[in-house]
Amino acid sequence: MLTTAAALEAVLAAMPEFPAESVDVADLVGRVLRETVVAERDQPPFDRVMMDGIAVAYADYADGTRSFPIQATQAAGDPALTLEPGKAIEIMTGASLPEHADCIIPVERIHVEDGTARLEDGYDAGQQQFIHPRASDHAAGAELLWPGKRISPMDIAVIASCGLTTARVSREPVIRVISTGNELVPAGEPIEAHQIRMSNGPAIQALLGTHGYNNCTHDHIADEPELLRERIGAHVGAADILVLSGGVSMGKADYVPEVLKELGVERVFHKVSQRPGKPMWFGTGPDGQAVFALPGNPVSALVCCRQYVIPALEKAAAAAPVPPEFASLAGDVTFKPDLTCFQPVKLISNAAGQVLAMPVKTNTSGDFTALSATDGYVELAQEQSQFPAGTPVFLHRW
Ligand code: AMP
Ligand code: MG
Repeated sequence: MLTTAAALEAVLAAMPEFPAESVDVADLVGRVLRETVVAERDQPPFDRVMMDGIAVAYADYADGTRSFPIQATQAAGDPALTLEPGKAIEIMTGASLPEHADCIIPVERIHVEDGTARLEDGYDAGQQQFIHPRASDHAAGAELLWPGKRISPMDIAVIASCGLTTARVSREPVIRVISTGNELVPAGEPIEAHQIRMSNGPAIQALLGTHGYNNCTHDHIADEPELLRERIGAHVGAADILVLSGGVSMGKADYVPEVLKELGVERVFHKVSQRPGKPMWFGTGPDGQAVFALPGNPVSALVCCRQYVIPALEKAAAAAPVPPEFASLAGDVTFKPDLTCFQPVKLISNAAGQVLAMPVKTNTSGDFTALSATDGYVELAQEQSQFPAGTPVFLHRW
């Protein structure tokens, strides 16, 4: 059986690259950048005054001057004035430093009377104080953001400061989430004793959404080969990515692999050496669509979605790879060494500043309520069976 590493590698290798598109700044947050953002101007673009107060020549202060006749007032947004010897210009935060001035004295340290600013007794001024020098953050033409960055609110400030109204980002893939199963009844509809509330569809959609993939609709299809063929066929024709849940195990009503084959979706693998999620199926459609068929058990479906679907989407969106994250196990874990175990965990931090992963027991892979108390899962290698507290392990946050 395929190892988890080989399965992930096969998924990533099969992913297309989503094309780029231009998007308005107002809609950019959370999208993956596909261009280099270059500084339009020096930052600051001029020697920027950092305090409300007066601008003086330090040489005058050094010569013993403590009273400065106020020559003029210059606010932020006004063109820079030229300071006359022995005088002061009343100045505001954000203003461009007046010509010949090289020292800002805060308004709290002066007393103004009859048009003259007098320094507080014993005030110790320094040359260049409270001046943010031109280009000290970066020069015009400096590269500020690179392709692959998922755009944060802070990046929006950078993009706007470069005078850009749009930026090139990866097109959002069209995703179809499909729940299969006769027993499933969506919330809001009456339910019988022998039926199950459908929870995977909304949960998978939500998980994709928290990773920035929102162009996603959901369909529920009964376990009937005809119906599955027709409806999945339509979805394959319309989507970039399909995420199915249920119907991939060995039961008589598990028609999904067979139906996908009939629809021309080529199998890349079926079954991975992992728990939960062993029956997972993955293939590619006639136009390069990625088709993930996840086991229906809710814990399996969510773990497989996070473990395979999210990295696949990140690769196709050309998102910069994130470095692996580690945590130390907070308690001993023992299990049969036959499969890689994705163990749901709650994260806590200790007084030494370490991130500890506290295993959270799920009562079989159907116990999705236990996941609500978790932050992610850790990966326990299949070669090992004893994992004492303190063992460093790969952490995958939801
Ligand atoms: P399957 O993989 O189709 O054999 O389903 C395995 C288990 O997961 C069964 O108990 C199903 O009822 C349950 N299940 C499948 N799909 C869903 C779903 N969308 N929401 C909640 N439970 C599901
Ligand atoms: Mg089923």
